[in-house]
Amino acid sequence: MCIYRLGSEHIVYLDNSATTKPCGKAIEYMNKALSENWGNPSSLHTMGLNAELVLNDARACIARSIGAKEQEIIFTSCGTEANNTAVMSALSRKSRGNRVITTAIEHPSVLETVKRLEKHGFEIIYLHPDKAGVISLSELENALNDSTVLVSIMLVNNEVGSLQPIAEAVKLTKSIAPNAIFHCDAVQGYGKLPISVKKLGVDLLTASGHKIHAPKGIGFLYCKSGVRITPFITGGGQEKGMRSGTESVPLIAALQGAVEELPNLSKQLEIQKELYLYAVSLFSKCDFIKINSTHGDMPYVLNISLIGYRSETLLHFLESRDIYVSSGSACSKGHKSYVLKEMGLSDREIDGALRISFSRYNTKEDIDLLYAALNDAAKRIRKA
Ligand code: PLP
Repeated sequence: MCIYRLGSEHIVYLDNSATTKPCGKAIEYMNKALSENWGNPSSLHTMGLNAELVLNDARACIARSIGAKEQEIIFTSCGTEANNTAVMSALSRKSRGNRVITTAIEHPSVLETVKRLEKHGFEIIYLHPDKAGVISLSELENALNDSTVLVSIMLVNNEVGSLQPIAEAVKLTKSIAPNAIFHCDAVQGYGKLPISVKKLGVDLLTASGHKIHAPKGIGFLYCKSGVRITPFITGGGQEKGMRSGTESVPLIAALQGAVEELPNLSKQLEIQKELYLYAVSLFSKCDFIKINSTHGDMPYVLNISLIGYRSETLLHFLESRDIYVSSGSACSKGHKSYVLKEMGLSDREIDGALRISFSRYNTKEDIDLLYAALNDAAKRIRKA
């Protein structure tokens, strides 16, 4: 059973798309960097060099995890910063064209940033998903033209877990819009699906530490050699001038620890798929539950609706049983889910939506506890 200690309580944690529990190696590497290698990696003396060695080792490990070169990894403070950097780099390509293509179901760190590009005169085209939360390649094909300078499409949606056809989308983009760079927000896929930047063909890719059992406050942007982007944060020229600010060696070391502790991703995916299908089979027995995630390709996120109930009431009921899920994405607190709306769900279905998101630490017992609690909730909670 996935039981953590939170103060003195035992909890079943099923909100891993919001954040994950830091793993042993992440904490160990972070503590070591904090207590032993706390120098500034840019300093020329031994203490600086020691910190730089930790930084270099982490960079090499993280580059290997996506099949990239070390110099292609830019450490950032989070996935949001990496997404902002990638999207705003369209500014430096404005002389080549002003079209930017993204999807209507991206994370706000992309959607809010393309709105800023709009103010700079860019034309933003939003691709819409089908009922399964997957964008259509023919819609992308129609949207691409000579003046397209950036395409930004996420790998895995954070609310429903739909997997987007990135490799195919990159091929289309490169054949129709040679001036465009392709960015992929892989925050919900990195550390769960095997990722090869070469196979995907992307120019830029975002990942975040706290979704893979590293602490919050660390992410990275993969930037393919030869692809020019504009630094978002300027200053002392760290990260080859692409992201100034003294690198947080402890957090970067922690990310390395989390990456080293990852299991074999293909094998883990099979285990996770079994758990996901087990949950789907249980929830399908209930006539008051509708399953909104139709794909088991990315079996870490399962979105369901309890028709006639309010998700916030359900969330607090579950919390009273020490079961933690989300009423949508953690970033959209209190707002109706635009992702579910885009997928064509009714207001009633959206109002009763819950996001269950797994980590490798979850078990069938967790699902059983959730299932029993949801059945109990349906009996005890007055319908909205
Ligand atoms: N992109 C996606 C798809 C996410 O789910 C999130 C966070 O939930 C982010 C970006 C932002 O990452 P961070 O929390 O590291 O800023």
